[in-house]
Amino acid sequence: MSTSRSGSGHSCDVVVVGGGVIGLSIAWRAALRGLTVIVLDPAPGSGASHHAAGMLAPVTEVHYGEEDLLRLNLTAAQRYPSFVAELEQATGTPVGYRATGTLAVAFDADDKAALDELHRYQSGLGLRSQPVNARECRQLEPFLATSVRGGLLVEGDHQVDSRRLVAALLLACERAGVEIRRNAARAVHVVGDRVVGIDGISAGHTVLAAGCWSGQLAGLPAHAQPSVRPVKGQIIRLRDDVEHPVLARNVRAFVRGRPIYLVPRADGEIVLGATSEEQGFDTRLTVEGTGDLLADARVLLPRLGEIVLAEMSVGLRPGSPDNAPMIGAGAMAGLVVATGHYRNGILLAPVTADAITQLIVDGTTPDGYERFDPCRFTRATVPV
Ligand SMILES: Cc1cc2nc3c(=O)[nH]c(=O)nc-3n(C[C@H](O)[C@H](O)[C@H](O)COP(=O)(O)OP(=O)(O)OC[C@H]3O[C@@H](n4cnc5c(N)ncnc54)[C@H](O)[C@@H]3O)c2cc1C
Repeated sequence: MSTSRSGSGHSCDVVVVGGGVIGLSIAWRAALRGLTVIVLDPAPGSGASHHAAGMLAPVTEVHYGEEDLLRLNLTAAQRYPSFVAELEQATGTPVGYRATGTLAVAFDADDKAALDELHRYQSGLGLRSQPVNARECRQLEPFLATSVRGGLLVEGDHQVDSRRLVAALLLACERAGVEIRRNAARAVHVVGDRVVGIDGISAGHTVLAAGCWSGQLAGLPAHAQPSVRPVKGQIIRLRDDVEHPVLARNVRAFVRGRPIYLVPRADGEIVLGATSEEQGFDTRLTVEGTGDLLADARVLLPRLGEIVLAEMSVGLRPGSPDNAPMIGAGAMAGLVVATGHYRNGILLAPVTADAITQLIVDGTTPDGYERFDPCRFTRATVPV
């Protein structure tokens, strides 16, 4: 049971819509600053955060044209160890943060050309990634296929167990006095041009952090609804032998042009992902999606054939129109937006929580967050 500090039960400083990794991180940090916080979510932790691989990988995830996001991702990766230390201390719950690094490998000559190009781009941005030849790849990961052509070792790209992380955040929230209400938010309450709460709860700040569902609340005018879409990801969980693990670190690969990753946890779980599909809110597994992941992974790591297949699932990443997150004040007073974290929501949760808490407490966001202004899409369409 949560310990409520929300006074009447119908008013609070902050109401957070959505109890995924983003909403729970914000709620926890805000409560630590002495604010009264209510989180609304019918099933906290059941959204994208439940399916995520948990890679904390600014360098191997870098994409052309996303240099601003890269800077935020690098800051987020630096912030992670202290966030995890605080969370583990607050809850006594280990969250599986592993700093074992990431090896990105190429399977055939074309894949190697793509990896070489990625390395040129990374080097141009001053990022640390070390080219390794085929033999060195297999010294690092002895079970890789002999056909692997070479790779890049990125010591700074780490991982966290996203399910343990969300469970710990939920506990931390409850211990910090956040009230978790297990029901869906329906209608935002607007008075004049100000958002004053939701579903009968009055709040100084209403935070939209409902992942890809953040644009679906009634009561908000169209220009104030965050523009967010679901990006489907099929993902697989395998169960390895803890004593004799098949992988020592995260492995990402291009296999005949198709990207995959394998994320080995200390407890034997290996997360194999993931598809990226524009299919709306469809959450069905497909033979093609899961079949390709398994086939590519087996080609890359033949020993996987002996490993137990534990789970297949689908998560919906929250994507914004430019695939960068929306973090900051919304289009109306009293409204705060924290969504659109797309492929990087686990990585970005701590810095998002810090920025949103600062916004609520001081009315400012840290330098550099203008780029992630939630109003950037609507503003561009306003006639001058
Ligand atoms: C297959 C896959 C792999 C990924 N791998 C990684 C990775 O390796 N690293 C990384 O950093 N990120 C990864 N991500 C992305 C990451 O999972 C997301 O960016 C992140 O989880 C988004 O968190 P969120 O809290 O915004 O949304 P969610 O986790 O989706 O949470 C939204 C919450 O809102 C709730 N909700 C919905 N409607 C309402 C309502 N009306 N009222 C109240 N609550 C509501 C839902 O129940 C849900 O709990 C991956 C995602 C997928 C799908």
